[in-house]
Amino acid sequence: MRNHFTITISDVYGTHEYSFKQFIRKFIWILFAVFIAVWTVGGISIWWLNQKANNDELVHKASVKAFTASLEKTRSDYESLLVEKTKLEQDFLSTRSQIAFLDQALQGLEELVGEGDSESEVDVPPLPLDERVKRVQLDSLGKNIMMSMVPSGPAVANYRGLSSKYGRRIHPITGKIHLHGGLDYRGKTGAAVIATADGVVKYSAMNEESGFGNLVTLVHANGFMTRYGHLSKRTVKLGDYVRKGEKIGEIGNTGRSTGPHLHYEVWFLYKRLNPQAFNDWSLGKYDKIFTKVKGVPWGSLSQAVDMLVKKVEKQLLLKGVSLAVKSPI
Ligand SMILES: [Zn+2]
Repeated sequence: MRNHFTITISDVYGTHEYSFKQFIRKFIWILFAVFIAVWTVGGISIWWLNQKANNDELVHKASVKAFTASLEKTRSDYESLLVEKTKLEQDFLSTRSQIAFLDQALQGLEELVGEGDSESEVDVPPLPLDERVKRVQLDSLGKNIMMSMVPSGPAVANYRGLSSKYGRRIHPITGKIHLHGGLDYRGKTGAAVIATADGVVKYSAMNEESGFGNLVTLVHANGFMTRYGHLSKRTVKLGDYVRKGEKIGEIGNTGRSTGPHLHYEVWFLYKRLNPQAFNDWSLGKYDKIFTKVKGVPWGSLSQAVDMLVKKVEKQLLLKGVSLAVKSPI
């Protein structure tokens, strides 16, 4: 028993003896068993945790993928909506500019025919666009009818100015004071002379007696008459129907004339009127003539034209023709 310790334990069951070598061996065995057990449990735990982590990662990856896909879809939806929004904005701007353009055009027309300048102290709500268009059209129709029947505008197509006005003056040939009963248009021989209203040719011939040389006389509706003198050429004959603006002859120097010009007269019934107001008459200055030219029953003439316009409107309504423009939207 050399190099051995012996431990003796005595209790109620008896006495036991343990040699130290035996004890060490047992301790080592227990230690080894504990180590194996810990290592095994640890290994299993690590494997299990690893597996779990792998599973979690897969689940996580799948959810990230799904989320990314949904994000992509949302982004593409957003981009489509953005494109749609830009398109709608452009449509809106284009429509707005069209409406503004129409409104401006209409305002221009209203000003031209004198519809838009009514100054009222009471705030009148603006009329719908189609109603405004209809009013302008009817008003314009009335004014155009009036201006096609009554002499208006210059009697020379390329009007370059006047060499003599209506009024008393010393006659350039006789030297006596007399009433110059018309307007003298400056112009070159051959320049076109035009009818200032619709009418019928009452006279077209050389008239030496009057001093007007080659003379054309037109009769118009409602008692008006116009005369065109000193023509180099007459292009209409007695009884011809002529429209306003149609060529009736050419500027010349026939009759008692000191140079090529057109002598133009406007008559109402048996009286010569100053042609200046008729020459200056336009849609933009429509009302001026009614105050400037006396001796013409403008009131009853306007009433007659209004009745004509109402008849036209009634006919159009009966036929179901709409005067209104289509909405741009
Ligand atoms: Zn003259």
